[in-house]
Amino acid sequence: MNTATSRKAGTARGPVPAESASERKFRKLGLCRPADFIVHLPLRYEDETRITPVGQARTGRHAVLEGEIIHSEVQHRPRRQLLAVLEDGSGRITLRWLHVYPGQHERVRAGRRLRARGEVRAGFGGPEIVHPLISEAGTELPRTLTPIYPTTQGLSQPSLRKAIDEALARADLDDTLPPQILQAYDLAPFEASLRMLHRPTPDVSLDDLAGHRHPAWRRIKFDELLAQQLALAAARAARLAQRARALVPGDDLLDRLRASLPFALTAAQQRAIDQIAADLAQGHPMHRLLQGDVGSGKTIVAACAAAQAISAGAQVAIMAPTEILAEQHLRKFSEWLEPLGVQVAWLTGTLSAAARRAALAAIASGEARLAVGTQALIQDKVVFRDLGLVITDEQHRFGVGQRLDLNRKGEAEGVQPHQLSMSATPIPRTLAMAFFADMEVSVIDELPPGRTPVLTKLFADTRRDEILTRIGDEVRAGRQAYWVCPLVEESEALQLQTAVDTWERLRGMLPDLRVGLMHGRLPAQDKAEVMGAFRDGRIDLLVSTTVIEVGVDVPNATLMVIEHAERFGLAQLHQLRGRVGRGAGESACVLLYQPPLSGVARERLRAMYETSDGFEIARRDLAQRGPGELLGIRQSGQALLRFADLSADEDLLEQAREAAARLAADFPKHALAHQRRWMQGRAQYLRS
Ligand code: ADP
Ligand code: MG
Repeated sequence: MNTATSRKAGTARGPVPAESASERKFRKLGLCRPADFIVHLPLRYEDETRITPVGQARTGRHAVLEGEIIHSEVQHRPRRQLLAVLEDGSGRITLRWLHVYPGQHERVRAGRRLRARGEVRAGFGGPEIVHPLISEAGTELPRTLTPIYPTTQGLSQPSLRKAIDEALARADLDDTLPPQILQAYDLAPFEASLRMLHRPTPDVSLDDLAGHRHPAWRRIKFDELLAQQLALAAARAARLAQRARALVPGDDLLDRLRASLPFALTAAQQRAIDQIAADLAQGHPMHRLLQGDVGSGKTIVAACAAAQAISAGAQVAIMAPTEILAEQHLRKFSEWLEPLGVQVAWLTGTLSAAARRAALAAIASGEARLAVGTQALIQDKVVFRDLGLVITDEQHRFGVGQRLDLNRKGEAEGVQPHQLSMSATPIPRTLAMAFFADMEVSVIDELPPGRTPVLTKLFADTRRDEILTRIGDEVRAGRQAYWVCPLVEESEALQLQTAVDTWERLRGMLPDLRVGLMHGRLPAQDKAEVMGAFRDGRIDLLVSTTVIEVGVDVPNATLMVIEHAERFGLAQLHQLRGRVGRGAGESACVLLYQPPLSGVARERLRAMYETSDGFEIARRDLAQRGPGELLGIRQSGQALLRFADLSADEDLLEQAREAAARLAADFPKHALAHQRRWMQGRAQYLRS
């Protein structure tokens, strides 16, 4: 609420004056109000506060040098350029300009005393500076380090510096935090921190500044995290103020479902079911994220939630990101719930017109208590009679908008449906705290008993023959295997071609095996047919693209081969590996790679080899790729946190969260001012 109002207040200024070219460039950097400029902080600094003796100028470092030009000339080979040699008694350095303008040679005539600034590099004939900035020797040096700001094309550092200086003079730099909070969290004052970061004095360690370790940085990062926590708390408060139908079981459906299961629930599953049950019985909408590693058994937890809602007289929708996964849910939910008298409707984009009409009618009349499907569930035509619970599987695969759309179908007269999201991409605790603080989280942190860990092996591509033998052995022992085709991100057509080629090649090499092919472009019916054949054991080896990545559950498959594993992301590899090790049999995952490996790829494959713990993998993924990718919000194009680093600032985040609660409770005015300073136009990315 607060953020929405402050955003409006920021833009509603009456008639809008035409935007100048520099304003447009500033806006590109998100710089509109003085408050935006003051927190546009340097990426790094250059020390121009002292003169470096020429003999001590280090390669790769920015330096300010002063001395006499002892020689200069315009060369014509290999190309026209201006050279000058500067000497100061400690050494000599070449100054080089690749374009020669009129009058330029005159400025660097032999005999002149000059100051030159720039990055020193190793040239052919010793150290040199290309395109140095030249000024008169002996003039006053700046007293502070020179900030280098993030910028955009056509916007120079001096004009940014000037604009920021102006903003620093004009903007409100009052501390948004009361002394009690500053003291409790040992925070440096805001204004001093800000001035220090924009114009640091030369006694500050450049390394501390660059590493964001200086107390001034700590204050800024704290403020940023705090603003985010306040926004999330506000979103949460808004949700608690909404109404939802309290879903209290009306019969013994849930008990009958549990009694019918062929296995006992794990303690972690039971705990999640209890947490969800308590939420559903509340009069405000649940927003709960169910997290559990691949294979931890989230589906049955969702089924129990569905049973409770149905038992309370409400309808339930389950949306999955792929047709294969939706179809699998349909099978499982039907198997579990239909014998107990629950009618299930099926809705995807590829149904026949008649089947579609029938499904829509059953959903609209309320006859179908449960609707399973893909994104097709959120189309306008779909009307529920009484949607009380919305479940999304692999929630990070959906855009925020899609989830909201499904949710809207349950909105009626100010009443919202409950929401359960499931994710097998375990989100590290810091990330969950930073981005899902307005959701409750249930974690299934144990696997069903009897699973043997998947053995992971790294094989260079050259050892492919050994793998083919291994597949043969596995199949003779009555098992099945997956072969995941190399990822071709550039083109879907090429990806398809690769899959077909791989399939044909493997069929040729393994003539005794029944080899199936699965890819995203197969018609839905064929997909279902292939998955069915694999599940029933009529296919021994399933060659597939990553369409099998999420959720697919065929316990008899015990071998997973991933070709060109170095092209896949860590989370993706983990998901793929999770397709095996689902039954009691020993399973293996072979990562085939094409040497030589890049450093990053090596790290990734090493992580896969070293751990099978989804949370550990997610932590490493966060460190490697940053939060945007992990949360599936990279398309937003905007960094979610500019200064804080979730993999390094976990403690700070913890403190910010605590402080947000204190601030909201005891200092609401400060909280509002703080959000206003930090959250301009950014709040939308945090709502989900
Ligand atoms: P995921 O969390 O990856 O969605 P699933 O819900 O697909 O996992 O469950 C993986 C497999 O484990 C399924 O075959 C499921 O029937 C089985 N399973 C789930 N819970 C248990 C349990 N408590 N004991 C034994 N098997 C279970
Ligand atoms: Mg699943």
